Amino acid sequence: MLNSLRSRDMAYHFHSQTNPRRQEADGPLMISRGEGCYVLDELGNRYLEGMGGLWCASLGFENDRLAELAAAQMKKLATYHTFNHRSNDPCADVVEQIAELSPIPGSRVFLVNSGSEANDTMVKLAWYYNIARGKPSKRKIISRKGAFHGSTVMGAALGGLPHMHESFNLPSLNVVYAGKPHFYKNALPDETEEAYCNRLIDDLETLIASEGADTIAAMIAEPIMGAGGVVSPPADYFPRVREVLTRNDILLLSDEVVCGFGRSGNWFGCETFGFVPDMMSIAKGLSSGYMPIAAAVIGDHVYQAIADEADRIGVFGHGFTYSGHPVTAAVAAEVLRIYREMDIPARARELGGHLFGKLEATIADHPMVGEIRGAGFLAGIELVADRSTRTPFDPALKVGALVERRCRAHSVMIRNMGDVISVCPPFVMTKSQVGELVDGIAAALDDASAELGK
Ligand code: PMP
Repeated sequence: MLNSLRSRDMAYHFHSQTNPRRQEADGPLMISRGEGCYVLDELGNRYLEGMGGLWCASLGFENDRLAELAAAQMKKLATYHTFNHRSNDPCADVVEQIAELSPIPGSRVFLVNSGSEANDTMVKLAWYYNIARGKPSKRKIISRKGAFHGSTVMGAALGGLPHMHESFNLPSLNVVYAGKPHFYKNALPDETEEAYCNRLIDDLETLIASEGADTIAAMIAEPIMGAGGVVSPPADYFPRVREVLTRNDILLLSDEVVCGFGRSGNWFGCETFGFVPDMMSIAKGLSSGYMPIAAAVIGDHVYQAIADEADRIGVFGHGFTYSGHPVTAAVAAEVLRIYREMDIPARARELGGHLFGKLEATIADHPMVGEIRGAGFLAGIELVADRSTRTPFDPALKVGALVERRCRAHSVMIRNMGDVISVCPPFVMTKSQVGELVDGIAAALDDASAELGK
């Protein structure tokens, strides 16, 4: 047996979203403990976690109430399934709370274990729905360039990030891509935001017409694109997308995996951007990342058509061993109670106001900062080589990764997606910790500038 846990990890662990050869050589950063909004590595170094891990840990990294509740549920009923008309108390509790919070009329909740599974489930439901309505040719899914929807075969196919497709030779699975609605990067010189939005909608109409509305089942979209660079759409974008899709009998699926549960300043991102989807996927914040639980939330009109069809066949043929697992469901149900007690959307707006105020005051004039954007308590910082012309850095310089490393040296965890820095902090952060986070980013930008200048 190898003597340190770190060396065991280096020898045996094939990591997610990591460069394997670099991992073999350099090894992992072993995170050993969580304390409030901080995580500690194996050497005891403390980092302020500005990303809640992977956009998840809305309640930070320790919570006695949840730890005790999980232990109590383990003692009462540690595992069971929800196939063949079974359920359990925590499962009933969590689905009711999700349906109460959901903006989709008559919501039904299909429980799964990850955001990818939730998105896969929505796609399968969109297919089922159209078959049930006698429209089996409606199969294609519209996604968007720059989107992230997960790592399963369908999740990755929906995604519009090239590195998720390269080398896998993924089957296309009938996914077609609309444009990424990023005004700062994609607008033409002198184009107003309104004109840019008109162009996006015209392009969507053209895409639907050229593919044929009778071949398209649904469009999937994150209200704010997360991994694509924390991109908020132009003001009128989603209401207009909704209108185009309804007119063409195409379902709108909102991927709320990042935006759900208060992040954008309302319970769900679709509320912030003014649309009601037909289905939405939720994960991450649903359990504050404490347990792997996620769900597809389904509007009544979709559910009724599917239920009629399943009744005809005799069974609805989809679901996972751990769908509605009692321990994960119990933790999620308690997390939702805590969010409601805290009034999490109001907290996001208050902390977000403080975060954006601090970012503007501290780094808005930094020569590397092109745009500060986001909503609620979610921010993205676009790094550019030239602010006046919005010219990006040479990708070979890997400037975003450099800033991420420098942040860590200042005891702050953020994430870089290319040259965009993202922050998605726990809602239990204090204002002074928000200040600490921004000061760490500012110091990292200064370090990176000095290094690039050399
Ligand atoms: N959708 C979005 C918007 C995400 O950000 C993610 C994960 N980062 C997923 C889906 C996939 O979730 P999971 O990793 O839980 O499968």
